[in-house]
Amino acid sequence: MYMKKINDIYSIDKEKLEKSFQEACSDKDFKNYVYGLNIKEEILMKYTSRLEDSYHEFNNCINCKGLDSCPNNEKGYRCNPILENNIISFSYDACKKKQQEIKNNSYKENLKVFAMNEEIKNASFKDIYKDDKARLPIIKQFKEFMDNYNKNKHKVKGIYLHGSFGSGKTYLIASLFNEMAKKGVKSALIYYPELLRSLKSSFQTDYEEKFTYIKSVSLLLLDDIGAENCSNWSRDEVLGPILQYRMENNLPTFFTSNLTLEELEKALSITSSGVDKVKASRIIERIKQLATPQELISKNRRD
Ligand code: ADP
Ligand code: MG
Repeated sequence: MYMKKINDIYSIDKEKLEKSFQEACSDKDFKNYVYGLNIKEEILMKYTSRLEDSYHEFNNCINCKGLDSCPNNEKGYRCNPILENNIISFSYDACKKKQQEIKNNSYKENLKVFAMNEEIKNASFKDIYKDDKARLPIIKQFKEFMDNYNKNKHKVKGIYLHGSFGSGKTYLIASLFNEMAKKGVKSALIYYPELLRSLKSSFQTDYEEKFTYIKSVSLLLLDDIGAENCSNWSRDEVLGPILQYRMENNLPTFFTSNLTLEELEKALSITSSGVDKVKASRIIERIKQLATPQELISKNRRD
């Protein structure tokens, strides 16, 4: 009696499943698609609506207009039915174009960012705003940098890029590092005020490791220098040794700042422990050896 009841329910369900499957199959292309999967009909019919979704994505791929306009649930991925032990599961697989994109992007591993939005890794030469003549001398400097780096990487200087807030200083240097990453050159972009905080908090853990990496990476950007609260420790134990090491090893170093070098010198001379002009001027001397000063005044691009 009990068994019969279950069978009844099953047969009603089965009828329903079959009906909706047959309805879906009135679309010839869908029918060709599902039968092409080489899966038994009695299994297929349990998944009609998900198979329709996957067919839909399959069709989107046939009419592909490029990754940017991919209408699939997850851009660049397609939901594929896979049969295992009489159960269909759906797997999201990267399409050929997406796979190529992933491969092309692997150079970004050469770029490390500390305490900055990972988005900055997408900065590129081709997207630099060209509406503003103020950027032209900097772009020219970048070209020279790249040429000279190729010829002798130990004879090139970085840039101390200073100027107004939001003018695109960080973006510009990031775009240069990005181009260099494509050539296999490793770099680090570091939001300097945060570096100090993070070094302080990692004294017990990986301080040495971090510090060594920053000192010795091929290209370094210390971003927004001068925005931090200067202390004897940050000036004499962090900044000084980083610059010293990079000078001795001819490693190109970049800076961005809202301050000119003169203003930075003043800011570095005043710490909570008093005024030390000599130590500040020593830092400035090192920066001048490592980088050519360049101003960028432009409108604020931040929203
Ligand atoms: P700064 O470092 O001078 O304060 P940012 O580099 O952070 O300025 O730029 C401010 C904003 O404008 C950021 O959101 C950045 O992504 C955008 N931006 C700046 N310059 C460009 C550019 N040349 N092309 C595209 N976006 C830019
Ligand atoms: Mg910046």
